[in-house]
Amino acid sequence: MSSSLSLTRRFQLFDRTVAGMEQRLLKVRQPAQMITALRWGAAELDQALADAPARVRATIACRAGCDFCCSVPVDVQAHEVFFAADHIQVNFSPVALAAALDRLAAHRRRVARLPTGARATSRQPCALLQDGACSIYAGRPEACRSHHSNDAALCAAHLADPAVDLTKAYIPALRARMFAVMLGLDEAIEAAGYDERSYDFGSALHEALTNSLCLMRWMRRGPAFPDSCLADPPEPPARKTTRKTKRRA
Ligand code: SF4
Repeated sequence: MSSSLSLTRRFQLFDRTVAGMEQRLLKVRQPAQMITALRWGAAELDQALADAPARVRATIACRAGCDFCCSVPVDVQAHEVFFAADHIQVNFSPVALAAALDRLAAHRRRVARLPTGARATSRQPCALLQDGACSIYAGRPEACRSHHSNDAALCAAHLADPAVDLTKAYIPALRARMFAVMLGLDEAIEAAGYDERSYDFGSALHEALTNSLCLMRWMRRGPAFPDSCLADPPEPPARKTTRKTKRRA
C-alpha cells in the first residue's frame, strides 16, 4: 500500500480547504452564519475520510466503545469550541446539558488546580466521554475527528504508559489527508483575524456554554475565552509533551 498521500495532493487539499472556508467566512455577519461555515468545515473533514481509498480505511482499528484516545488533554482553537457548543445546544436535552455542564465544570476545576506543566501529561477521561462513547460525536473537535489508529492494543498500551510510541499506530496515508484539511480550516480562520490561540477543550467549552458573550467577542476578533482556559497559559513556559493535539502531523 502506498504509505502516504502525494505532496501535490496534500497541497491541493489544503488550498481547496483554505479557499472554501475563506469564501464562507467573508459572508459571515451573524453567529448562525458562522456556525454554518463551521459545519461546512467539519463536513469537509468527514469527506476527507470518506474519500480515502477503501484499502486505507480498512486499516482503521477504531470502533465504537474503544476510547483509549479520549483520556488525554485535548487542545483546540476557539472555532472548534463554538462548533461543539452549538452541537450540544441543539442536540442535548435540558437534563443532558445540565449533566454535561457539571462534568465540564469539574474538568475545569481539576485543570485549574494542576501544577505547572501537569496538564499536558494528565490522563483523565474527557468530560464528554459517556459509557465509552463520545457524547458529541458529530460535534467533536478536529483533532478527535482526524485521529485514527491501526492498532487499538497499542493505543491501550500508550494510555497505560505514555512512553510507548503511539506513532506506529498512525495511518500515514489517512493522517496526511486529514491534516491537510484540518490545517486548511485553521489557516483560513487565522487569516481572517480570529483568535487562533490553543485552548483546553473542556475548560473553553464550559465557558462557551455558560457565557453567551464568548462567540460575539470572538467574531469581533477578540479573545474568545479567558487566559485561564488556554492550553498553555502565558506563564510559565510552554509545555512540550504528548497530548491530543492537531499541531503535529
Ligand atoms: S470530544 Fe469526544 S472524541 Fe474527543 S476526546 Fe472527548 S470524548 Fe473523545
